[in-house]
Amino acid sequence: MNKFYIVAVMAAISSLTMAYSQNPARLTDEPVEIRQTAGRAALGEFAPKFAELNDDVLFGEVWSRTDKLALRDRSIVTVTALVSSGIIDSSLTYHLQEAKKNGVTRTEIAEILTQVAFYAGWPKAWGAFRQATEVWKDTSDAADAKAVFEREMIFPIGEPNTAYARYFTGNSYLAPVSSEQVKIFNVTFEPGCRNNWHIHHASKGGGQMLIGVGGRGWYQEEGKEAVEILPGTVIHIPANVKHWHGAASDSWFSHLAFELDGEDSSNEWLDPVTDDVYLDLR
Ligand code: MN
Repeated sequence: MNKFYIVAVMAAISSLTMAYSQNPARLTDEPVEIRQTAGRAALGEFAPKFAELNDDVLFGEVWSRTDKLALRDRSIVTVTALVSSGIIDSSLTYHLQEAKKNGVTRTEIAEILTQVAFYAGWPKAWGAFRQATEVWKDTSDAADAKAVFEREMIFPIGEPNTAYARYFTGNSYLAPVSSEQVKIFNVTFEPGCRNNWHIHHASKGGGQMLIGVGGRGWYQEEGKEAVEILPGTVIHIPANVKHWHGAASDSWFSHLAFELDGEDSSNEWLDPVTDDVYLDLR
């Protein structure tokens, strides 16, 4: 095992804590303080003690115990309790919005409210559904699939990869994982998404290394068979070799991309990977 591997793996491990804390479906190593101001904003003058208990105890101490119960689970419990009590006012709206933010999908909230209906009462579920359809109105099956993939991933998916979108077919996402020592990005591709043929040029050193971390994807060098990438698959891309990488047509996919130091390095983006090349892959 050479030195680079060790540095790269250490860098990947040290970023785990950060990545975990960003995933509301997972427990965190330490409590993550939740800042709440709604109590003081609404009742700070009228009932300062109630406002303090709401903001500093309920949210600041109880909701913040994300090392004991994840935010997503706390949201599900809270929504269930509100609906069971017949509380279908703005506090339910708020907690449905939080539940969505904490990773509860449209499919899941529909299941949750259907389940609650039998134990809490049919009309209460009807009232909650009227609000849930509003909160989740812009979400699609694809957004649900993305949320489920995101929840299972160790690393964050990050933001839409708009800077390089013109070199990709389909939508991709980019999250910086390490910006020191070895630069590492987590690159996520929706099903069917792949980058264009491209070359990482360098006169010495350089190239790129990929490690699959979620879903299923492909790597292909020009003139060679495509190689399947699964979580844990390591791909070494030499400098000056024409290639592409991306998701399988039926799976979300994420790989870590390691930038390797080289002399006179530059990236050259070429043609898209056509369907007649891509769709043959199984
Ligand atoms: Mn590449």
